[in-house]
Amino acid sequence: MAKKQKPNKGNTNTRVSNGPKYDPNRKKGVPQNKVNGGVFVYTGSITVSELSKQLGLNPSDIIKYLFLNKKMMVTINSQLDDEVIGELCLNYGYDFKKEKAIEEENFEELEIIDDEKDLVERPPVVVVMGHVDHGKTTLIDTIRSSNIAGGEAGAITQAIGAYQKEILGKKITFLDTPGHEAFTQMRARGAKMTDIAIIVVAADDGVMPQTKEAIDHAKAAGVNIIVAINKIDKPAANIEKVTQELIENGLIPEEYGGEHIFRQVSAKKNIGVQELLETILVVAELSELKANPNRYALGTVVEASLDKNEGAKATILVQNGTLNTGDSVVIGNAYCKVRKMVNEYKKVLKTAGPSTPVVVTGLDEVPQAGDNFMAYADEKVAKEIAYKRKLNAKNKEMKTTSAMSLDDLYGQIKEGEVTNVNIILKADVQGSVEACKGSLEKLSNDEVKINIIRATAGAITLSDVLLASASNAIIYGFNVRPDAAVRAKAAEEKVDIRLHNIIYALIEELEEAMKGMLKPIEKEVVIGQAEVRQIFKASKIGTIAGSYVLEGELKRDCKIRLLRDGIVVYTGKLGSLRRFKDDVAKVATGYECAFTIENFNDIKEGDIAEAYEIQQVARG
Ligand code: GDP
Repeated sequence: MAKKQKPNKGNTNTRVSNGPKYDPNRKKGVPQNKVNGGVFVYTGSITVSELSKQLGLNPSDIIKYLFLNKKMMVTINSQLDDEVIGELCLNYGYDFKKEKAIEEENFEELEIIDDEKDLVERPPVVVVMGHVDHGKTTLIDTIRSSNIAGGEAGAITQAIGAYQKEILGKKITFLDTPGHEAFTQMRARGAKMTDIAIIVVAADDGVMPQTKEAIDHAKAAGVNIIVAINKIDKPAANIEKVTQELIENGLIPEEYGGEHIFRQVSAKKNIGVQELLETILVVAELSELKANPNRYALGTVVEASLDKNEGAKATILVQNGTLNTGDSVVIGNAYCKVRKMVNEYKKVLKTAGPSTPVVVTGLDEVPQAGDNFMAYADEKVAKEIAYKRKLNAKNKEMKTTSAMSLDDLYGQIKEGEVTNVNIILKADVQGSVEACKGSLEKLSNDEVKINIIRATAGAITLSDVLLASASNAIIYGFNVRPDAAVRAKAAEEKVDIRLHNIIYALIEELEEAMKGMLKPIEKEVVIGQAEVRQIFKASKIGTIAGSYVLEGELKRDCKIRLLRDGIVVYTGKLGSLRRFKDDVAKVATGYECAFTIENFNDIKEGDIAEAYEIQQVARG
């Protein structure tokens, strides 16, 4: 059975065991048309002759069928369109599916299909995550230094962003970036390098905001999670309490019938670290991580830089195949003929197999972390591909790119670019979280899966925006609002935040976006925010809010939304707006003012009044 591995497709860049060989079939337009399990998979218009060959028919059968049934006169060289191809397939007992043709230079979109018999075990790739000060760096250092003592004593190490550790005769590859930066950095190019995330939690501190973030990131990335409860040497360590908190955050230890392995360690005193490493091997073995060492290498850039002496260089992680000195490689958009590659001990390697990180130098430009690379046998082909990629990158730069947005969701679904819609859901109370979540999940269909990666009660925070950016998610807010800083970050990261206060409207909006039916809309534009600093009660007027405009402006008669701790407590209209004793038309940032809200008096100190207008916006 063939085993699929992303990225890449086509069994055409294969190094066979009787020596390196370049497959001349490797040409533009892969994947080629093929019949696969009764389904004819094709990429565009094809001739009668080609179709008859693929379906095992005589061309005259097709010519006759089309003449008798569709009054079409065709020859064996006539091009057939989608409708006719579909009808012919069904008539001859095949299902059919059109796939996007992939240009050779877009190698990250290709899908490598290796034969099961060519696959061998490869080391796991591990990242260490957790809250600040919980001991990530100490753990990484402890693991790394015991490595040096083990085999490479006296060797000068260099930080290359990744390293390998050998234990019980097996290797483990660690990505060196502590924290979820690893995922955030990689997201732009959709890189997936990690197999296992170790989530470090200090036993004397427990689950903290970044622990939760780490859990969300690891879950969204779909990697195996191992929990390392650290600092167990400290008198204040409370393992039971930490375990309980982790359970509340969805990590259930095996002993409790869950699927997550918990290990207790002291990174500082080197207690339990060996067991942790052995656990990694066990998880890796269960995951059956495999690759085919007998093909040209492909993988991902871990980090890259411009060195004063060595020029453009990159640490790359080989994910499949074997990289050899002498290979021609396209790394991101850069071309490189591998003259020399070294590991983190500056040891020169002649070959680098699956899961091996190596530094290569002599690139013609600096790629970015998360870029894919692919090795080629033919120098000319590699150079041409790098050249085309540079051109494509320039063209792309011209158009601004953005993360997932509801407005272009349908287009992306239609193009087959989107099959998973990631959603972060924030609502005022747990009850609404559950209600929205249930309804949203029901929108999943055969083509598109709704994937709720975070659903919690509370305001929309910076951490939500970062997770959305890292996982290309849309944020839905129900009766909650982002503050100015969060909105600014979302704009910078091009994260789409959708705010609603009627569940039905929220669901309908997403449903319509999925069907490409979003109507031209009235868009809400926030024009300013003011903080309530003092409350006055006047018997005739009601509650007057002495306030300070933090951002934008407040305008007479504008719509207003009152927020308390990021949660909407009232939506209505501004009553009066005054500076000193005078009614004014507007008050700008940095000025004090007093306002009332029409028909509403329950204003409190510390509340935020958000002023907004409804504008008509044509959908782009
Ligand atoms: P990071 O921010 O998660 O990388 O945390 P660090 O590795 O920098 O550790 C933060 C502090 O905790 C440092 O002072 C470490 O020495 C200390 N630390 C880390 N692991 C342990 C441990 O197992 N036991 C004790 N007692 N202290 C530790």
